[in-house]
Amino acid sequence: MRLAVLADIHANLGALTAVLADVDARGADAVVCLGDVVGYGPDPEACVDRVRARCTAVVMGNHDAAVATGDGLDVLPADGAVAAEHHRAWLDADALAWLGGLPLAGTAADGAATLVHASPDQPAAWRRLDGVRQVFAQFEAFATPVCFVGHSHRPAVVSNVLGVTTVRPGPRYLINVGSVGQPRDRDPRAAYGLFDAAAMRYELVRVRYDTAQTAARVAARGLPPRLGSRLAEGV
Ligand code: ZN
Repeated sequence: MRLAVLADIHANLGALTAVLADVDARGADAVVCLGDVVGYGPDPEACVDRVRARCTAVVMGNHDAAVATGDGLDVLPADGAVAAEHHRAWLDADALAWLGGLPLAGTAADGAATLVHASPDQPAAWRRLDGVRQVFAQFEAFATPVCFVGHSHRPAVVSNVLGVTTVRPGPRYLINVGSVGQPRDRDPRAAYGLFDAAAMRYELVRVRYDTAQTAARVAARGLPPRLGSRLAEGV
């Protein structure tokens, strides 16, 4: 069972298209999404359609919730709030209802993996996992060998056994797969995770795409220009 795990697509159709082509080339049995399909980027409609068609499980992100309901816009970064309001206007009722009906958590890989956008302990609180103690406390909040998260847009693998940095059978793992549509680890390439549940193998994959083309789409749709220019910097 090879699982492709996508997170934080953020309406970046160029990045999503490149990632799905890479998934197809490598071969995966299923594709899942950890939320934030929309927000920030220029193509929420096409990204929602693509994710609905390709993903066997999708959980809700904070931008999905804000776009679907109009609530929580005030806690987004200023340019993110502007984009979310545009997305709310652009998406049709069916797409908004789908986003608003997404679950906060899910499972995949025949029960081997928990899926959540921000943190398994309080999935609706959209917490940032940036403290060691806070990260280790997460292992009590899921029962599967692996829990996949997104939200920070920064890839990471944390084991419940200190010193274990490579995924292998035995330890349990909290894995951030990075972001498809807006990486923030100073690597502008799109990121996603490939997980082999039977072998307990994990690989972070990076895929090049045309960031300038997405930036041009950001401008063409009247979104804040910084949402396009930041993509080339990976921030
Ligand atoms: Zn995000």
